[in-house]
Amino acid sequence: MKRTLITGGAGFIGSHLCDRFIQEGHEVVCMDNFITGSPDNIAHLIGHPRFHVIRHDVSNHVYIAGNLDYILHFASPASPIDYLKLPIQTLKVGALGTHNLLGLAKAKNARFLLASTSEVYGDPLIHPQQESYWGNVNPVGVRGVYDEAKRFAEAITMAYQRYHRVETRIVRIFNTYGPRMRANDGRVVSNFINQALRNLPITVYGDGLQTRSFQYCDDLVEGIWRLLHSDEAEPVNIGNPNEITILNFAEEVIAWIQSESKIVFEALPEDDPKIRQPDIRKAIEVLGWRPKISREEGVQKTIAFFREYLKA
Ligand code: NAD
Ligand code: UDP
Repeated sequence: MKRTLITGGAGFIGSHLCDRFIQEGHEVVCMDNFITGSPDNIAHLIGHPRFHVIRHDVSNHVYIAGNLDYILHFASPASPIDYLKLPIQTLKVGALGTHNLLGLAKAKNARFLLASTSEVYGDPLIHPQQESYWGNVNPVGVRGVYDEAKRFAEAITMAYQRYHRVETRIVRIFNTYGPRMRANDGRVVSNFINQALRNLPITVYGDGLQTRSFQYCDDLVEGIWRLLHSDEAEPVNIGNPNEITILNFAEEVIAWIQSESKIVFEALPEDDPKIRQPDIRKAIEVLGWRPKISREEGVQKTIAFFREYLKA
């Protein structure tokens, strides 16, 4: 039986990974300090004989008894409002946390997979973003705490691969959404759906002409599963290239919910990237992966999740 450590396992994406790895027959150790995650996300797995939870901050030394085959490092505040509120924790988990987990991977001879992000491209000057692009990041801007932590995490991951021969994988994740996002995490998908369900104003930042490309969580989990089992040791983008302006997305959400909400315009946050679309040719070629779930289907599933949440 394979034994896998998932850090940030009680978060939005981490909890979906826990589900998948349990389904695949792994023993899963979920490590989380619950700083932005929730026990609710893994409540259904508690008591499963192959599932274990350890409450721990991975920026401190990580101890795990016994062998490990895989380490998936997903611990990190991820929503802009979270990492702006938790700048030092975000830098520490990306830097010290990644270092600790690479050390653990080396000691256990485990394969290590890093959750990186499209934010390593910053406010990109090329479009769509391909893996060979080095990015346009403001290191001293407010988002620098997240972007630079992830860029350092990628650099130290490559150093452990080259110097210590640790088997590593790096996934650059583009905007992902789905059930188990926090209603108040401030990200655009959760904000718009929750505002529309309550007929509250939909808050579009700036003129709404900035773009994003939204990926449903199940597509991401499949991409991560394939990358982990592939031989690809360089970063791979996993995202849905279907790009939309934030204003058009607000209109879609209003229409799909048949909401009475009106759009209001608010100030654009500092260093908010103007465009974002993954170039996924590498994932298609190397992993035979491409996203399958359309924005309408994925958003409808997410709306259903938040409807239940609002009832509870
Ligand atoms: P999330 O906030 O729901 O999950 C992060 C989890 O990590 C939470 O459970 C949190 O409690 C935990 N955590 C944070 N710091 C920790 C620490 N020091 N020690 C232990 N646990 C800690 O966010 P998410 O959207 O699920 O993101 C998960 C990962 O994916 C993050 O690394 C994020 O950078 C990356 N990512 C996400 C997206 C996205 O669109 N959701 C995009 C790019 C990258
Ligand atoms: N956004 C918005 N209204 C909101 C929340 C976000 O217009 O209520 C915009 C935000 O300025 C950004 C985009 O939506 O341009 C995506 O924001 P999110 O926080 O989801 O993630 P990002 O891609 O910026 O990390």
